[in-house]
Amino acid sequence: MISNDPNILLIYTGGTIGMIKDPETSVLKAFDFNTLLERIPELQLLDCNIETISFDQPIDSSNMNPTYWIQIAELIEAYYDKVDGFVILHGSDTMSYTASALSFMLENLAKPIILTGSQLPIGDLRTDAKENLITSIQMASQRKSGKPIIREVGLYFEYKLYRGNRTTKINAEHFEAFESLNYPHLAESGVHLNIQHEHLLKPNTRKKLVVHKSFDTNIMLIKLFPGISETVLKPLFEAPNVKGIILETYGAGNTTTESWFLNLLKATIKRGVPIVNVTQCSGGSVNMGQYATSAQLKSIGLISGRDITSEAALTKMMYMLGEGVSIKTFKTIFETALRGEMS
Ligand code: ASP
Repeated sequence: MISNDPNILLIYTGGTIGMIKDPETSVLKAFDFNTLLERIPELQLLDCNIETISFDQPIDSSNMNPTYWIQIAELIEAYYDKVDGFVILHGSDTMSYTASALSFMLENLAKPIILTGSQLPIGDLRTDAKENLITSIQMASQRKSGKPIIREVGLYFEYKLYRGNRTTKINAEHFEAFESLNYPHLAESGVHLNIQHEHLLKPNTRKKLVVHKSFDTNIMLIKLFPGISETVLKPLFEAPNVKGIILETYGAGNTTTESWFLNLLKATIKRGVPIVNVTQCSGGSVNMGQYATSAQLKSIGLISGRDITSEAALTKMMYMLGEGVSIKTFKTIFETALRGEMS
């Protein structure tokens, strides 16, 4: 890598963005990323040096899992001192999970990691891929006095940069596929790149990057619904391998007050299995005690996920269990914002 321009590592994991339609068969197939600069000549106009690395076997992000998260984090670790920023091309389906997981894995992150993808393949005439890719690279290249401006895991899609662990995929068809309902966007691309400096994470840059690589996936996500039954729920909660549960409750963290349900929660927590209360609403926060239907949850010892997304709650739980956080401190640590994932 040459010149004073920022050095950006582009990591291609898979997803629609890197696909191209075979003109003869119309079948979508993975694009050879080594020829990226030739295929997208616009990239050569950017004031940065781009190096690309592709997964040997690019995946649809529906196949994403912690093993791949670790693979991505290890690439970041290996290049951390050599480059100024990272752009990760990823399928949109599970992008919010990967962004959340990376945010927890990369403690004291002081460089930009921008995840992006697209709804249409890069070779499609109406593609959203080029704008998403080009602007993500520009976002990752933003520097002030030689230092990166964005020092967190972001997700860029359709003119907006979000904090990755605040996002959710909200639409399977629109170019505007992501939302961050509980936290303002970090930057917007219009005629100018408009960065909302006051919303960026301000990490302690004197501390060294620590990469955490253990996840415990023995957890469950349970979404409440009217009529949920004891016969189905009890064996799930009592399953011997379950180490933690995320409960998607109604509104501001409310649940049925039927005694079988509350007793089941109580017994599960007593067994040392933490239960986190997150709301199934797309926006807003859990506030246990606001209604009679949540007051008991607080005294039983449910953890408040406040305004965390389910994606961030799941990955935070896997990360904390993987780190071996004791049950004694689990509630206090979970209720603390570790990477700006909750207000
Ligand atoms: N199924 C694709 C994926 O998540 C969709 C996309 O790339 O947006 O990999």
